[in-house]
Amino acid sequence: MSECIFCKIIAGEIPCHKVWEDDDHLAFLDINPIREGHTLVIPKVHASYLFDMNDESYQSLLGAAKQIAIRLKEVFQVPRIGMAVEGFAVDHVHVHLVPLTGVGQLDPKQAKPGDHTQLTELAQRIRT
Ligand code: 5GP
Ligand code: ZN
Repeated sequence: MSECIFCKIIAGEIPCHKVWEDDDHLAFLDINPIREGHTLVIPKVHASYLFDMNDESYQSLLGAAKQIAIRLKEVFQVPRIGMAVEGFAVDHVHVHLVPLTGVGQLDPKQAKPGDHTQLTELAQRIRT
């Protein structure tokens, strides 16, 4: 059994607020959102570092992120969706997508634990 928390989410061993998936990727709400709609997009095959991924996996992950960003922009009616990749806390590649209305909002220090009922409702809004 994997010790990686995101591999456990993919395996369904721990729950997530899923917004989208295909055969190779999963997108779900961050449980400590920086801003409303903060979403993580991950590859289903464990990889540790974005820029070590092979070109095909890298490009398909960013392609999935683009599709989700388009959806988030539509749902949250914001001028920009910000994108960031750090990965110091969780060693499974994840793209952060964050709805933004202005400069300086893509800031991990603004993360706060999300309310699970609200996250469930938000995920539903993004999915439909
Ligand atoms: P990073 O590794 O880029 O610093 O950030 C890891 C992100 O994963 C954080 O924003 C954190 O809130 C999120 N995270 C950590 N554990 C979980 C989890 O179990 N479920 C969800 N949905 N997000 C998580
Ligand atoms: Zn993993």
